[in-house]
Amino acid sequence: MDFDPNLPIDQRAEIHSHPIGRIEVEDDLGSARNNAIVKGWLQECDESHTEFDCSGSKGLPLPTRVLDVVSQSGDDNDVRLFVTKGSFGTYAALSHCWGGNIVPVLQTSNIDQFQESISYASLAANFQDAITITRRIGIQYLWIDSLCIVQDSRDDWEIESAKMGSVYKNAAVTISAMTSKGSKEGILKRRPKMPGPATANLKIFSDPEVPESVMISWLNNEDDENLWRLNFFGHLSKRGWTLQESIMSPRILAFGQHGIYWKCPHGFQALDGQQLSGAVNVVPDKLPHLDSILYGPTADDRSPGTIDKFGLLTEYYNLVDWYSYRTLTVAADKLPAMSAIAEALSRVLGDQSTGATYLAGLWDFDLHRGLMWYPELPSAPHVLQYRAPSWSWAVTDSPIVYYNNEEPWTCSEFDLEVHHCQVQLRSAKNPFGEVISGYLQVRGYSIPLLRSSQVVYDKILSPKTIYFSHFDEPSPTGLDQVIVGVSSGERIEMMVFNSTKEKPEDWDGDLDLEINQDLWVNNGDRALLVHLEDIPGSTSNSGFWLLLRRRDGSEDMERVGCIINMNVDSSWFESWVLEDFKII
Ligand SMILES: [Zn+2]
Repeated sequence: MDFDPNLPIDQRAEIHSHPIGRIEVEDDLGSARNNAIVKGWLQECDESHTEFDCSGSKGLPLPTRVLDVVSQSGDDNDVRLFVTKGSFGTYAALSHCWGGNIVPVLQTSNIDQFQESISYASLAANFQDAITITRRIGIQYLWIDSLCIVQDSRDDWEIESAKMGSVYKNAAVTISAMTSKGSKEGILKRRPKMPGPATANLKIFSDPEVPESVMISWLNNEDDENLWRLNFFGHLSKRGWTLQESIMSPRILAFGQHGIYWKCPHGFQALDGQQLSGAVNVVPDKLPHLDSILYGPTADDRSPGTIDKFGLLTEYYNLVDWYSYRTLTVAADKLPAMSAIAEALSRVLGDQSTGATYLAGLWDFDLHRGLMWYPELPSAPHVLQYRAPSWSWAVTDSPIVYYNNEEPWTCSEFDLEVHHCQVQLRSAKNPFGEVISGYLQVRGYSIPLLRSSQVVYDKILSPKTIYFSHFDEPSPTGLDQVIVGVSSGERIEMMVFNSTKEKPEDWDGDLDLEINQDLWVNNGDRALLVHLEDIPGSTSNSGFWLLLRRRDGSEDMERVGCIINMNVDSSWFESWVLEDFKII
């Protein structure tokens, strides 16, 4: 059983300047005292965090529409929609889970009425609480997607969703409803009472003359909430759109089940006084390069030459990994819900006039690395409704992982040449949004990929066994699939075997793989070398391939998987041939 030393409300004990325990949090998260603490965080950030662009978010252009939550009539229930027409001001933005249908929302039929007045009582609990919080921290305007984007206009959605990044970036604060599954749950919760043993008092001494008192209380796992945990386990962190909302927001006021938390580029605060160790970002890892381009001291006038592109893209690929675990209500939102992050990166990744070219989630100047994602689970099936080219991570709803190395790749003579790459957007209004087609025209070293129905014990390794092979589709036989480079007469080819980890009873310990050629099938699949990490003086290098399959009735190829091999002899490639492929 864990015990948690608590301090009385408003006190903070230290022993030799180490803070002890936690401050007791008032049960009602919306209490006057809790609100005063929150206002204190905002004020401290405004006044003291000068080394970061924490407080640059005041007096900026307002979003197209916001809610004016300051009552015109003196009635607290009075809220109205304000069409801003380029006005400047200070506003809060809400990051929340819809959790199903929301009523009412902004529609073409009620936009005039909403500008007169919106009935506070008609709004879902999350929105009522967001209005209350906004009023209490002294901010006039509030942006909520469902009430500020016209929900029955595709045009309005395309225009406004493309601006989502700036909506969160320019907000004075983002109110994050971290643990509310849906709009009806509310944000300002009462801390649930947990049953447990009675509390006891304990005296602690820094100076024997000045004893301090802390309360020992039972610590439930549910009680042990902090911003880091909320970012892993909170409902908001399971949703696709909310990743870029948290990344783009400089200042976040996060509401959990048990506390309120603050995050700004300077650091973190919590009602219970807990400090997170180190500069943990609002996503569960550090993003110093991204932070620096979004709200570092020179974020707005940073010249591209000073950017560590490798470091920045490494963080981007990590974000894509995290994003792939999240779910979307509308499958087509896969690229749009990351578009604000992509747009922010494009401004610093390319040259000033053109920016970098974004290709359905990948970047043109880093395609070799960008192509090397693989399924986190045994497979990552491609979605049936077209959403992205087969080589983009946006082609699947399953979790994926990027092969992220610590050093930049050095090109080798065997590396894939990309001759042309292109994607066609669904709408020019969002250049980082939905795509309707795309292809890569490439030239690279490839060999046939043959499929065998032979089942082998996968510890029977030939010297050219590929260590990590990943098919995007589930295995047709339900068995693991291993790929082995084999000599077939004069040719060297790759073969896919079904593998079982069970050692066959009649296995005699012989490491040579006897291939049954009667079980081969040649579907025209190819293994295409993307990158060979050429280590000087070594014949063993890391190799990265795409597995390609011919699209039915076409010369075009599509990605069906990838191979990462950490120990490949480069002399193997000397017999391979250069071929051109169009990968769609
Ligand atoms: Zn700050």
